[in-house]
Amino acid sequence: MNARIASHFINGKIASDATGRALSTLLSPIDGESQGTVHVAGASLVSEAVEAAEDAFASWSTTPVKERVQVMYRFKSLVEAKVDEIAKQVTAENGKTHAESVASILRGIEVVEYAASVPALFAGELMEVSRGVDCYTRRFPIGVVAGITPFNFPAMVPMWMFPMAIACGNTFILKPSEQVPFTSLMLADLLKQAGLPDGVFSVVQGDRETVEAILDHPGICAAAFVGSTPIAKLVFERGTAANKRMLTLGGAKNHLVVVPDADPDVTAKNVVSSAIGCAGQRCMAASVLIAVGDCDHILNAIEAEMRGYQAGCEVGAIISKAAKQRIEGYIERAATRGAKVRLDGRDVKIAGKEFGNYVGPTLIDGITASDESVHDEIFGPVLSVLRVATLDEAIAIENGNPYGNAACIYTTSGATARYFEMHAEAGMIGINIGVPVPRDPFGFGGWNASKFGAGDITGPDAIHFWTKTKKVTEKWTANSSNWMS
Ligand code: NAD
Repeated sequence: MNARIASHFINGKIASDATGRALSTLLSPIDGESQGTVHVAGASLVSEAVEAAEDAFASWSTTPVKERVQVMYRFKSLVEAKVDEIAKQVTAENGKTHAESVASILRGIEVVEYAASVPALFAGELMEVSRGVDCYTRRFPIGVVAGITPFNFPAMVPMWMFPMAIACGNTFILKPSEQVPFTSLMLADLLKQAGLPDGVFSVVQGDRETVEAILDHPGICAAAFVGSTPIAKLVFERGTAANKRMLTLGGAKNHLVVVPDADPDVTAKNVVSSAIGCAGQRCMAASVLIAVGDCDHILNAIEAEMRGYQAGCEVGAIISKAAKQRIEGYIERAATRGAKVRLDGRDVKIAGKEFGNYVGPTLIDGITASDESVHDEIFGPVLSVLRVATLDEAIAIENGNPYGNAACIYTTSGATARYFEMHAEAGMIGINIGVPVPRDPFGFGGWNASKFGAGDITGPDAIHFWTKTKKVTEKWTANSSNWMS
């Protein structure tokens, strides 16, 4: 039995406070073994973290930006040196394959690189707006800020937030998912080794209680959130009601549209990796394939490609037993409604991992436009196929779902791709790419119910989110008495 406790990290120190409410023992998604326990940080521990962050803010916010980002350069080197070790922790608590964990950390490092370039992005604007009168802007950090993150990317999603927030001069409190509490402590340790002053970055573990303590704390002025849509909405509303600047990213339902002229091999490989990568547990996963016209040759290629992947090898584990049962429920109900399950990932048995949570790659053909799988986020390695006659029908179905994270098209026609790109209602569009994650310096962010608040979470919008600007108007002209001149 593993008695490991997921510590908090406050004021540069591990805070092994086991007095908070204990959550149920964390079980490994891979083999069901105990991973340890999370004790929930309540309002008083959150206040302790805020006090440390407020103390640290005075000197961190006034440290010149070019000095602040030196920490990011060192942090990047430290993370790179430990990618393998961090990836092992990500895999242990989340169930991703090692290769996926490594890839996710490398994506996080790209944000650290962007954060290191903040001095170039921070330079203000200056213009003579009238004779002898100059206006210029100066950026300031906003204060103590927080990040609340989901289970599916224990390193990458926190790294979407804290490098930019910290480089911009804020002090940051992270509340990781209670399902994956350990990776963030490795990141905290590496930030400390990189020379980040105590109190600039803290970690408080917990669940809803901790999130509410963060949102209600008057000392925290902004928070970013990534998670499911119902919680993103709640968190946005509670945070803004408490006058905080909020950006909350929610769930997704990503539709891939394929037309008959698409390259079957390229499309099959790409669609399958989008649908089953990270076992479908990512907000950019392909979930519904809308086949326009006669695409049987492409669907056959997709099925053949999917048969080459196995749960427990290339396809990682599902986060919990409950999540696995939920996914299997969608497959069961689709079959009951008459859809054809061409590849069924239920009931997979993996030697040595009998107590793990696995669902194999699943391909369901012939769902209808009103099917729950067209609009519900399933969050598993399940691709449902819907057949329509025209591209406009496909776009209407995509646009009829409440989310708006990603939408993709597979075609060899530039005109078709452009038409789709112009008309699909999603913040991130893929053309022959099933996971169209914009890489820095482009920002990540969806539309509609996939995001509450303005701007993207990474890229240039992150600078705006984590700073406030002062606009200065000055006149130094000698012997002038007319200030309107
Ligand atoms: P979740 O919404 O259950 O949890 C996210 C965070 O919210 C966790 O830290 C959790 O402790 C906290 N939380 C849970 N219930 C709460 C409540 N009632 N009040 C306040 N806080 C609460 O999400 P999850 O299951 O951890 O992650 C999967 C979801 O995240 C999926 O919907 C996925 O699409 C989404 N996601 C979105 C993006 C994106 O960029 N849009 C990226 C990754 C994941």
